[in-house]
Amino acid sequence: MKTKVVIEYERTCRRDNTVWYVPQEFHDKPKDAIMMSRGGETAARKGALTVAWIEARRCPICGSISFDEREVKEAS
Ligand SMILES: [Zn+2]
Repeated sequence: MKTKVVIEYERTCRRDNTVWYVPQEFHDKPKDAIMMSRGGETAARKGALTVAWIEARRCPICGSISFDEREVKEAS
């Protein structure tokens, strides 16, 4: 049996139940994401990852960082 890979995360805002999705790449802290990726990292890419990580933590509607999270795995 093949282990399914988490491809993204579904987050549900605890304040207004808004659902949004976060790519696996933006789930961990930028430092970890950078260490996991291959090749040279430019300052621009590090900056973009940091911004994406911060944005991914907030509800796109109300800006709350309180949410429930569910793993979304690849289809078999
Ligand atoms: Zn919200």
